[in-house]
Amino acid sequence: MQWYPVELHTHTCHSDGDFNIKEIVHTAKRAGYQALAVTDHNTASGTEEFFHEAEKQGILPVYGLEWTTYYGHMVVLGEQGYTDWRGVKPEEIDDAIRSIHQNGGIVGIAHPFSLSDPINTGYLWEFQIHDWTLPDYIEVWSRNYAPRRIQSERAFALWDELLGKGIHITAMTGRDWHRDDQLPCCYTWAGISGELTAETLLEAVRSGRICLSAGPLLTLKAHQKENELFPGGTAEEGKIKLEIILKEDVFSDSREKDQITAEEIRIFANGQETVRIPVQEQTVLELQAEKGWMRAELYGTYYGTKHCRIAVTNPIYINE
Ligand SMILES: [Zn+2]
Ligand SMILES: [Zn+2]
Repeated sequence: MQWYPVELHTHTCHSDGDFNIKEIVHTAKRAGYQALAVTDHNTASGTEEFFHEAEKQGILPVYGLEWTTYYGHMVVLGEQGYTDWRGVKPEEIDDAIRSIHQNGGIVGIAHPFSLSDPINTGYLWEFQIHDWTLPDYIEVWSRNYAPRRIQSERAFALWDELLGKGIHITAMTGRDWHRDDQLPCCYTWAGISGELTAETLLEAVRSGRICLSAGPLLTLKAHQKENELFPGGTAEEGKIKLEIILKEDVFSDSREKDQITAEEIRIFANGQETVRIPVQEQTVLELQAEKGWMRAELYGTYYGTKHCRIAVTNPIYINE
């Protein structure tokens, strides 16, 4: 299993971004991303140029666009076909997501708790999802300085509430990148075994083989009987061995390293903190897994904010 940094929420001059296609590909490549989606507002008009440019510069392109409506924003990735976003009423969103799935796409709820009226009409998620097993992911961190923003706390609370109901929804970051502003952001790392392709990447997102970070990379592996499990995987109740790996200097991009200090690793099971240990490169813990979920989080000081969450793994799920 290899972990790849990817960014799947960006904008260009095909909507309201400052980047042109060449610039976003170049900036992402220079930063170290291995895959990139351009997700302009309600348009995929940059796609042809984007794929051409990505191939030329050596970064994996992922087809995407961002549904941008009065009731919320939704990132659509890998859809082969087109689901019309116009006229979808708030209570009809489930059918729209089903249609995107039928076309091979996945959907992510973008910045669910961003400020809306009168600043940014439609940024707040107000679509009424009836079946929460439908959306593939939710952006718990978006834009700059996300770890210390109140909207991130709300998004994490929504994620935890859904996990508590037994819904396996993936947490993601969305840089919502519009311009080369050099501000600190968060990163999505996708766990891929075999080749990194648009298909294997979308499958990693769908299944939750994803770790999120504001800087250092925290990954999780579980051993149970002969099985090796990664975030998004399912273990059984009983004894489980968790291996937590922390890598400090994996990705530099725009963050100032001295502004982010990792201090503690915490393990959460079903919303409750169960273990807290000082940071180290490799931690192995023998724990008792109970039905529900377990994940690892990294805490520290983030741009002056103490005890801030600075990395998180998606959960390993536990069956009875
Ligand atoms: Zn948006
Ligand atoms: Zn956006």
